[in-house]
Amino acid sequence: MLDIRNVDTAYGSVPMLRGLELAVRPGELVCLLGPNGAGKTTTFMTICGIVRARRGAVHVMGNDIAKIGTENLAGLGVGVVPEGRRLFPGLSVLENIRLGYDAVSNHGDQFDKQLDRMCELFPRIRERLKQAAGTLSGGEQAMVALARALVGNPKFVVMDEPSLGLSPKLISEYFGITAEIHRRGTTILLIEQNAEMGLKIADRAYVLVKGKVAQEGPAKDLAASRVTAGLYL
Ligand code: ATP
Repeated sequence: MLDIRNVDTAYGSVPMLRGLELAVRPGELVCLLGPNGAGKTTTFMTICGIVRARRGAVHVMGNDIAKIGTENLAGLGVGVVPEGRRLFPGLSVLENIRLGYDAVSNHGDQFDKQLDRMCELFPRIRERLKQAAGTLSGGEQAMVALARALVGNPKFVVMDEPSLGLSPKLISEYFGITAEIHRRGTTILLIEQNAEMGLKIADRAYVLVKGKVAQEGPAKDLAASRVTAGLYL
């Protein structure tokens, strides 16, 4: 689903990712952890083709992102949840979700059915479909951003710090839904700062420190590891 090989990125002359190696196999839920400024969002942007690798290669669903471009990711079956949700605040909840569907062109006219599925997964969305997205609470916006990523039935979803700013109760609900989506067969890369919650639902995890993978392995092992605790937890 994702293969990042020996990738370097830089902002101007300042190096950021340094020899990054990361892979996500079909069916996995992989968590990418790391402290502030470690390069997690830069990794997200590199996967999406917004930040270009200066060295190495990023393949998404077997395609070189440098060749296919960001705009073709949805059509390949990749859903994304960017940091800060990035909803269109003046558009309604329905219109925001519709954008996620329309970005995937090969579905035919099944939007109503797909919207129904999203409302089952996120019951609070149904009563707010006509409301402007910018007027929703943070928790509701987080659900809409996830619905927008899922409405086109992606095979692979990449999420950048989706729990940021949510209350502990909502964080727990959000991680529960993420685990459920994974159980239903979607492959997930979850980029997170909340190591405790991330490691609970992930199969494998990576810890990113200063643009490099400092540790990787089964989530259970990392949760129990003193090295991880020293590095990050
Ligand atoms: P956080 O958890 O705080 O969001 P992060 O792990 O996602 O952190 P990044 O957002 O990838 O970290 O940023 C890594 C470093 O790159 C930071 O020091 C940041 O200031 C810098 N950086 C990010 N974007 C740019 C940019 N467009 N131009 C210059 N520097 C940038």
